[in-house]
Amino acid sequence: ETIFSAIPMAPRDPILGITEAFHADPNPHKINLGVGVYYDDNGKVPLLKCVLEAERQMTAQGSPHTYLPIDGLAMYDSAVQKLVFGEDNIALQEKRVATVQSIGGTGALKIGADFLKRFSSNSQVWISDPSWENHRALFEAAGFKVNTYPYYDSVNRGVDFAGMISTLKSLPARSVVVLHACCHNPTGADLSDAQWDEVIEVVQDNKLIPFLDMAYQGFSEGIDSDGKIVRRFARLYSPVLVSSSFSKSFSLYGERVGAFSIVTGNADEAARTLSQLKRIIRTNYSNPPIYGAKIVGTVLNNPELHKMWENELTGMRVRIHEMRHKLVDELNAKSNGQDFSFIIHQNGMFSYSGLTPEQVEKLRKDYSVYIVSTGRICVAALNSHNLDYVANAIAKVL
Ligand code: PLP
Repeated sequence: ETIFSAIPMAPRDPILGITEAFHADPNPHKINLGVGVYYDDNGKVPLLKCVLEAERQMTAQGSPHTYLPIDGLAMYDSAVQKLVFGEDNIALQEKRVATVQSIGGTGALKIGADFLKRFSSNSQVWISDPSWENHRALFEAAGFKVNTYPYYDSVNRGVDFAGMISTLKSLPARSVVVLHACCHNPTGADLSDAQWDEVIEVVQDNKLIPFLDMAYQGFSEGIDSDGKIVRRFARLYSPVLVSSSFSKSFSLYGERVGAFSIVTGNADEAARTLSQLKRIIRTNYSNPPIYGAKIVGTVLNNPELHKMWENELTGMRVRIHEMRHKLVDELNAKSNGQDFSFIIHQNGMFSYSGLTPEQVEKLRKDYSVYIVSTGRICVAALNSHNLDYVANAIAKVL
């Protein structure tokens, strides 16, 4: 018997579990649509040309592997602020936004959660039902009680806005509301501009603490358009917490490049807030890694590379959009009158397909098509070579 001999086995991550089962499957036609990763038309994770070029420049320069400051690479942090909040945002001009480099979007959420626990310890957290599967665990791990607000209406295949807004209206001051800034994961259903206006109004009236998670900026309509909700919040209200990530938009998954920002009331409050964020980082991992932030900072600060990046991002977005259309065409043709057009109106990398857990199970067993049991499909993993096979398989299990 040892001190930890009774340690229980932790539950498996549901999505990584799918990937493990996928790798063990000998079927040559197998397809993994369970992931949250963008693949190109050849089924490969792309290495963006702008990234390769930035890496070339970095290698040619050669530089020692020093420590970064606690809050990260300064030229990266300032570039992120402009991208997320828009260069002309009044909150930036008034220097009341504190931004720190983070270990991906997940790390940004954790910095924000730890900050909130320290300075608003009695708050409870509200996440959408459903939400990204890590939101609940992450905020619980930071010490919060996590509740849900209604979000998805599976009958009408859209946002249950009446349910959402009435729950938000009932929340006490300082409740933390986690909102997906664009490309809702897992449903692909986003709020309209008018609905966002109502959300902002409730946040203001009830003095809530909005935490905007933006992991997919650029995957719905484009950088500026997808950033507009964050930008509107920042102009109208404080505090606003924002987690952002370049995992998907730069295809830099493993380099863990993200940022956490808070819009505060004035420059002095921002300085004090930043000092506290640095304290949180210092006691967790001291300071962030250099490589990914240097790539992103190099691209964003070079007009030519920046343009190259936006073109490549547009390419990813357009390809996903084409896959949505083709999938809908194929399914509508093969499904005996069932209408799948709703898939076209969903945003980002995912689609809530409406497939039941039984149908998902059958897809895996009979066709080696791997989907999350909630029916979430990664549309960004479809391509011109596998789309017919997937559409046929889905039509067969309907
Ligand atoms: N938030 C949402 C909604 C996500 O979908 C993801 C990634 O899938 C993240 C945060 C985390 O992003 P990262 O991989 O940069 O940590």
